[in-house]
Amino acid sequence: AAVEGFDVEDVEGAIEAAGHGPLPVLAVIGRPNVGKSTLVNRIIGRREAVVEDKPGVTRDRVTYEAEWAGRRFKLVDTGGWEQDVLGIDASVAAQAEYAIEAADAVVFVVDAKVGATDTDEAVVRLLRKAGKPVVLAANKVDGLSGEADAASLWSLGLGEPHPISALHGRGTGDMLDAVLEALPEAPAQTFGTAVGGPRRIALIGRPNVGKSSLLNKVADEDRVVVNEVAGTTRDPVDELIELGGVTWKFVDTAGIRKRVHLQQGADYYASLRTAAAVEKAEVAVILIDASESISVQDQRIVTMAVDAGRALVIAYNKWDTLDEERRYYLEREIETEFAQVAWAPRVNVSARTGRHMEKLVPAIEAALAGWETRVPTGRLNAFLGELVAAHPHPVRGGKQPRILFGTQAGTKPPRFVLFASGFIEAGYRRFIERRLREEFGFEGTPIHISVRVRE
Ligand code: GDP
Ligand code: GDP
Repeated sequence: AAVEGFDVEDVEGAIEAAGHGPLPVLAVIGRPNVGKSTLVNRIIGRREAVVEDKPGVTRDRVTYEAEWAGRRFKLVDTGGWEQDVLGIDASVAAQAEYAIEAADAVVFVVDAKVGATDTDEAVVRLLRKAGKPVVLAANKVDGLSGEADAASLWSLGLGEPHPISALHGRGTGDMLDAVLEALPEAPAQTFGTAVGGPRRIALIGRPNVGKSSLLNKVADEDRVVVNEVAGTTRDPVDELIELGGVTWKFVDTAGIRKRVHLQQGADYYASLRTAAAVEKAEVAVILIDASESISVQDQRIVTMAVDAGRALVIAYNKWDTLDEERRYYLEREIETEFAQVAWAPRVNVSARTGRHMEKLVPAIEAALAGWETRVPTGRLNAFLGELVAAHPHPVRGGKQPRILFGTQAGTKPPRFVLFASGFIEAGYRRFIERRLREEFGFEGTPIHISVRVRE
């Protein structure tokens, strides 16, 4: 497309850059203190303190966007946590298992100075079982003298150990090149083989909101746990459930059904599991306990799903317990706390009584439809033309920036690129998003708008 004042390559480049779907996921795993956090910080260019000073600290953020050699991916950071009451082996195993599940490829970090430990061997067995591509990072090789230590890690049977110093950066570039070779272009779980299979739902929410009750309710009521669907391979942690005549895949349900009791670090595991489920899913159903005030943790979970670019449904559970007063306050809380996701379909349910269970599927379908909406370029520009004529951008410094052309670069979620003659202010961007939603729907989906400004 030619846009006044832009090179054709710029336009095509911008559309291509914005058009990517879900990013492939790379997990960095390994024992405590091998240097995972240090490595993650190096990859994403973060300069924060790398070592958490308190055991069991709450870590909310576990995924980051990263880029190497022009390719973007998501990074799952499992560093900075302490072993909990389960003991070192079980903790490492639990952490590794969650992270491997979410990932398309794994960097397994071993401390080359220490060499392979029994715990490392246990992780190797998990990696074998999962069958995902693995890059072995032999860390703390700060100089040439450490190379021999790295070479001894061939014994793990994971192929070539890549000697690196996460601290100083030595060897990390070569290792990342190997990572890019191992990492698929797009997450297999979101596209790839799963296309045409059952749609994937992540049922998420903080502890005790009723996730397991809801899952049992929907699974029992429609008498349905489908064991075998032609052409699908069943991950043991996923569950196929028929709802409204359609088979859905509820991802990562093992964590919902079997609650492992974790003391220290429980919040961290919960965050990691939630992130893993969100990555694997197309739509997140976020369960909120309507009988309690909406909490910061609820908001973080919503933010996680929105940042991941997933379709979203919000279900308010335990509706059976609400009196009139609580209902009043809940509405006020929703208005203030969830204003940024006012577009998400909402259902008021009770996993106990079964109230409004039948409304869940239409809400999920609406959100997925919004997530996949594609607006033809002609229609989009007709709309933008009218909008700009009726509501021009405010004049700044004697100039009036104009939107010249727009196109939808991608779906899942919808991503738009707008080309403008000058800087477009945040308020005007929000106005455009609001009007886009009014015009085209986009129920239940985040939308991305990037603006390119003419030089
Ligand atoms: P994590 O628990 O696996 O996330 O490990 P951290 O990233 O917190 O690192 C544990 C310790 O190892 C810290 O004191 C780091 O400074 C140190 N460390 C990490 N990478 C290297 C490295 O490449 N060389 C050396 N010498 N020390 C490192
Ligand atoms: P999870 O931790 O999110 O899986 O939550 P659970 O399903 O274990 O539920 C936590 C508690 O809330 C249990 O005591 C449930 O019986 C209760 N609960 C779940 N859903 C409802 C509901 O709709 N109404 C009422 N009154 N209690 C519920």
